[in-house]
Amino acid sequence: MQACDVCIIGAGLSGLACAKKLHEIHRESTILILEARDRVGGRTLSVPFHGDAVDLGGQWVGPAQHRALTLLHELGLKTVRQTWFGESQSSSGPNLTDLVGLGYRSLDAWAAGVRDPGSWSRADAVAWDRLSVQDFFDAHVALPGVRRELDLLVRTVTASEPAHLSFLYFLAFLGMCGGLTAVGDGDGGAQSFKVAGGAQQLACRLACDLQARGGVEVRLNTAVTHIAWQSDRDTISACTTRIQASKVVLAISPPLWGTIEWSPPLPLDKAAVASRMYMGSAVKTIAVYKTRFWDSGRGGVAAAPAAAVRQLYLEDLGPVANLFPSTVAGAPALIGLITAASAATFASLREHERRAQVLRQYEHYFGTAAARTECTDFISKDWIREPYSRGCFAALMPPGLATCSGGAAARRPLGGSRNVFFAGTELASEWAGYIEGAIEAGYRAAEEVATALGGGGTSPELLTGLVQALCPRPSSML
Ligand SMILES: Cc1cc2nc3c(=O)[nH]c(=O)nc-3n(C[C@H](O)[C@H](O)[C@H](O)COP(=O)(O)OP(=O)(O)OC[C@H]3O[C@@H](n4cnc5c(N)ncnc54)[C@H](O)[C@@H]3O)c2cc1C
Repeated sequence: MQACDVCIIGAGLSGLACAKKLHEIHRESTILILEARDRVGGRTLSVPFHGDAVDLGGQWVGPAQHRALTLLHELGLKTVRQTWFGESQSSSGPNLTDLVGLGYRSLDAWAAGVRDPGSWSRADAVAWDRLSVQDFFDAHVALPGVRRELDLLVRTVTASEPAHLSFLYFLAFLGMCGGLTAVGDGDGGAQSFKVAGGAQQLACRLACDLQARGGVEVRLNTAVTHIAWQSDRDTISACTTRIQASKVVLAISPPLWGTIEWSPPLPLDKAAVASRMYMGSAVKTIAVYKTRFWDSGRGGVAAAPAAAVRQLYLEDLGPVANLFPSTVAGAPALIGLITAASAATFASLREHERRAQVLRQYEHYFGTAAARTECTDFISKDWIREPYSRGCFAALMPPGLATCSGGAAARRPLGGSRNVFFAGTELASEWAGYIEGAIEAGYRAAEEVATALGGGGTSPELLTGLVQALCPRPSSML
């Protein structure tokens, strides 16, 4: 049996950020990171494309996401500004200017008031948590145009149907990000910058740096199946590997907590979070072109799509709900996001059917056959069927969970001597669901672990945990 001071489960950005921070503040600890996949990065995935990289997972960062920007800088990574269609500084997504202009600032004010789970016991929060986002909009949004924008906002930002999502949790999500304009498209929003060379590099470089420092090991192809905690000597097990750790950090999304066997079982409030939080649904597509047919030619600024001028809505013309102009390996490209209920339907198609649907939609939207005929490459990535993600962008709360047990329970460590800690983007207090949130939650968990470990290192006598994971296969590249 292998022993370590801290075992981190999940080598996504949260688990890796946790290891980085812990190594900085508690240098003498030995840290073992167990990762189920054959790669690091989790919901970030950059695949090679003609000498460049295509991001099939998390991609954008915004100017308010200071932890992500600092980490990018520390790791020597550069950002590239996202460009937009037309003068409106928009993608094809929801028109937030209209929403804010139409008096929906109150959403931002309410959101700011409930961003902290400590506020979820307030009477208005409890009432909001009884409602789905759809219930609330049905009761309070009369103007069809505003309703359309709001529904689109929810679907594109959370990848959930409004009917499934707690109105309180939606407000808290907005509040944690700084409001409507912060999550929206356009300069200054969460999609302002891309990572040059691909966002997965954050995880790859972090993992390489950590292993080079010594005291930290990242083990791939090792899915944790069992955690025994609060016993004399807690364990984490892989079917052939048993690991004894003083502290365990779970850096996976809450719906995946339930894929692990817990001895003793998770407390009821944690079990409710694991079983009731649900993943959003999204498929990402990249269409690469011979020409930038949407370009106005004026200083490289992309023109407003023909359909936008004709007042047609992208989401009425096909599966893609949000569309971004881009460049991949020097070639023009369109990045399309298919979210919520449409994603599940789209994911069931074969690749050539996906391509045909999306290109037909672009042809109608841009009003030119070039959108179909000039496409050289089409790539799509379904996150719903990924066993170690089960969806994206992140896990969300349905009505009734946040005020019942979800609030405080989700982040609370387990065990009398605080053996098991929880990270992952969903448990962030800022930008939950984003890369920034993953890093924040990882740093927070590291500080909790460091406090629990005390000032000095641990000795083998203090080991209290065991972890079990699936039979490791040979590791591939990080
Ligand atoms: C298509 C898509 C687009 C997105 N766009 C953006 C964006 O533009 N900007 C942004 O900020 N965010 C975006 N996101 C969200 C962002 O990628 C995530 O919030 C972030 O990467 C989550 O990091 P994490 O470490 O919390 O979780 P994860 O990345 O999910 O990491 C968890 C890790 O744990 C592993 N794991 C799971 N179960 C086990 C187990 N039993 N044993 C061992 N390991 C296990 C998983 O394999 C995974 O590697 C997007 C996500 C997707 C998928």
